[in-house]
Amino acid sequence: MKGGLVSETGAVLLSERRSTPRAEGPEAVVAAIRAFIGHLAASGDGTPAGVGLAVPGLVSEDTALYAANLGWRDVPATDFTELDVPVILGHDVRTGGLAESVLGAGRGVPDFLFLPIGTGIAGAMIIHGEPYGGASGWGGEIGHIPVFPDGEQCACGQFGCLETYASAASVGRRYSLRAGLEDVRAEQVVASDDPLAIEVWDDAVEALSLALATYTLLLDPSMIVLGGGLAEAGPALFDPVRTRLVKRLTFRDAPPLLPAALGVDAGMLGAALLGWRAAGRPDLGPGWEVDVRSAPLVS
Ligand SMILES: [Zn+2]
Repeated sequence: MKGGLVSETGAVLLSERRSTPRAEGPEAVVAAIRAFIGHLAASGDGTPAGVGLAVPGLVSEDTALYAANLGWRDVPATDFTELDVPVILGHDVRTGGLAESVLGAGRGVPDFLFLPIGTGIAGAMIIHGEPYGGASGWGGEIGHIPVFPDGEQCACGQFGCLETYASAASVGRRYSLRAGLEDVRAEQVVASDDPLAIEVWDDAVEALSLALATYTLLLDPSMIVLGGGLAEAGPALFDPVRTRLVKRLTFRDAPPLLPAALGVDAGMLGAALLGWRAAGRPDLGPGWEVDVRSAPLVS
């Protein structure tokens, strides 16, 4: 978990990390968040104006409806804090996308895709400056677009999902399996000249370019912002994906492909924006010049 105390001018007064006590069950995680928020609040001058919280799974502004990996069902936003202040919840990836939209790579760009590639792959579709969650909140699950319908089975049950080929976890897993090694990380695969590594990386690039071409044809984004651990691969990721995306989009220009600007802080900064919205200040954010590295960080 990552949390912070953010002023109305966007100054990150404090930011901290804590481990998530997932093994202790759903209630324990909620209690740990409550304690974390209490601690952050006590570190400032007076009571905070609002709380914003980015959570995984299916979420509405006032309820964490369902999170498979945390065991949550219908947890009210007010359960997450003992403070008597307004609270707004946001979906984790969409909250990161909101921060990239208001403060990061997408500043001033109304329509783009924010795609963090980490253990899994999910996107935030930014439409008219706001993340779009669809009719039921499941919008943006780009990781489960079947890119190779006859391909390998995904943890979700489908076959050939983007995530099965192109997430950082999948790149490491697919190479480890082929090479008969244990726990090779994606960044080692990217840098390797082993033909097996090249093949696995090529599959990842192919899968990504197919999914991004599909997204582009459907939604015509101004740009595509790649983030998460795999985006750290830099040109080794961006160059081949860009080349193939351009090639696939025969009758139209490809949108520019850019790296995310806020890194691992996107979720926390997006949550801060939600917190200020909860406090009745939806105008805050666009003027922030956030330099999170200047904030004291306790790991
Ligand atoms: Zn899937």
